[in-house]
Formats: sequence, structure tokens, C-alpha cells
Amino acid sequence: MTQALTAEPATVTPLPPYSSPDVKCAKCSNQGAFTKYRDALGRPFLEEHNGTTVYRGPLPERLERACERCDYTWDEALQPAVPELRPATIADVVHALEQSHSGWALNISPGLTEHMADALLAMLQIDVRTDHPVWQPAPAQPPLLAPVPGARNTDPEAVAVFVPGPQQPGLPTNWVADNRPAPTTSQTGPLLPPGGEA
Ligand SMILES: [Zn+2]
Repeated sequence: MTQALTAEPATVTPLPPYSSPDVKCAKCSNQGAFTKYRDALGRPFLEEHNGTTVYRGPLPERLERACERCDYTWDEALQPAVPELRPATIADVVHALEQSHSGWALNISPGLTEHMADALLAMLQIDVRTDHPVWQPAPAQPPLLAPVPGARNTDPEAVAVFVPGPQQPGLPTNWVADNRPAPTTSQTGPLLPPGGEA
């Protein structure tokens, strides 16, 4: 039986953290409790709780624990997943450096990134957040399309241009284009921003 009250909601008291699957029952000392997700209660509701019909709430989202032996029931906080961590290697930091400049630094040589990664690992203890997109396999890229001979572009604004990342202050506006590496013979399509071909 569930029934809403018209009373003003009381303050929500914080729940104890999730204990463990084999937590010891506070009433019968049995080890082991069932777990059931319960949605938040925004205001007091009448419900069955440990053999008594009582008003409960407001309550946050929670894990309801029930002793496997005596059915004593209590609430614990949610336990969302934490990202899996592993110690970063030099190759990890090199990859992170290459992926993190977002076009601000052009032409970072592999030797420089490796030197920086080595120095950073000597100064810092770095863990890899394996849930970050930078560690996921890169999605397949559509092939670059060569211009169709004879095709006319009716949009006067639509021209293939090299689009740099955020421009560093103090550099002339044509610095990026003038200092861009010459395209290879395989790059016959529109030019990509730095890192755009990865
Ligand atoms: Zn118990």
C-alpha cells in the first residue's frame, strides 16, 4: 500500500555507502544480504518497512538491502561504476600529448613528444582513464573524395580551405597555411585540419 502525504518534505539524510554483498546483518549477524534498487521518494509515503507500515521519505535513489536470513531491511547509497585505471606508459603519454593539443601546436615531432612524456612521467604519477574516448578504437573514416572533373560548385562560399585549430595569438593569419607540410600524393581531396586525418 502506497499513499502520499500532504506534509512538508523533511530534509534528506545521507545514506551510508554500499557495504558489500556479504555484509553482516545488524540484527541477526548473518553474513549476506539481497540488494534491490529503489527510486527516489520526493516526499513521505506510507509503506511496509521491517514489518511495520510507516511513512518513509523523502529518500534519494538507493540500494535497499535485505538480510538473507531475517529479512531485516535497510538503505545504502548507490555505487556507480568508477573508471578503470591503469598506470600510464610513455607510449600512453605520447598518445595523450598528440591527441590533446587540438591543433594549437603544429608539427610536434615524435622525438619531442617522447621527450615530454618521459619528463612528465618522471615528475608525475599518471593513470590512464580507460573509459576516455581517446583510448577507444578510432572510427572508420570515409575516404577522401577527389574533385569530380567538370562538376561546378554553385555555392560561392563553398571552397576547399585548410581550417586550422584555434589560432595562436601573435601569429600572422597565413602562418598556418604557409608552414603546413606539403601534401603527399595520396592527399588528393580536401585538406584536413591538424589531426583530422587520424
Ligand atoms: Zn538478519
